[in-house]
Amino acid sequence: MPTEPQPDVPVEVHVYEQLLGRSCGWCRQHVSYSGRGRPASYCSKSCRNRAWEVRSAEARLQRDIATGAVRTGPVREVIRETVVQTRLVPEPAAQPRVETTTVVPATANAWRVHLDELTRQLREGELGRQHWHHEKLYRALIDVVAALGEAYPGGIEHLQRNASRRSR
Ligand SMILES: [Zn+2]
Repeated sequence: MPTEPQPDVPVEVHVYEQLLGRSCGWCRQHVSYSGRGRPASYCSKSCRNRAWEVRSAEARLQRDIATGAVRTGPVREVIRETVVQTRLVPEPAAQPRVETTTVVPATANAWRVHLDELTRQLREGELGRQHWHHEKLYRALIDVVAALGEAYPGGIEHLQRNASRRSR
C-alpha cells in the first residue's frame, strides 16, 4: 500500500545537476565528461587544432580588413570577348604533274636544236655559272668532235675544211 504524502509535513527537495558530456566544438560529436577537471571542449586534438586555425584565420582577416590590407568591395570580373572567325578556303585543285621526259634526238636537225640550246644555256643560263660542270661537258663535246671526224669521209681535216668553206 503506497504511502500518501502528508500535506502538513515539509518535504526537502534537492536537485543535483551532473555534467555527463558535451558536443565537440568542431565536429559536434559527443564528448563524455569524466567528472574530473575542466570538461573538454573538443573530442580530439585535431578538432582543437582545426578550430584554433579557423579562429586565428578569422582574427587575421578582421585585422587585415581593419588595416585596409584586405579589400572588402564586390568582386568584379573583367571579360574580354574574342571572336575567332575561321574561313575555310578550298584547296586549289592539284596541278597535273609535268613529266619531263628526256627525248634523245635521233636526227641531225634535232641534235642541232639541242646543241644550240646547250650553247644558249652556257651563254645566258645558269649552266654558264656552274663551272664545276664545264669540264665534263668539254670532254663530252671533244668526244663528239672526235666521233664526227671518225665518221666523216677523209676524217676531221676534210670536215673542218668543208665546214669553214660552207660558212664563208
Ligand atoms: Zn571533434
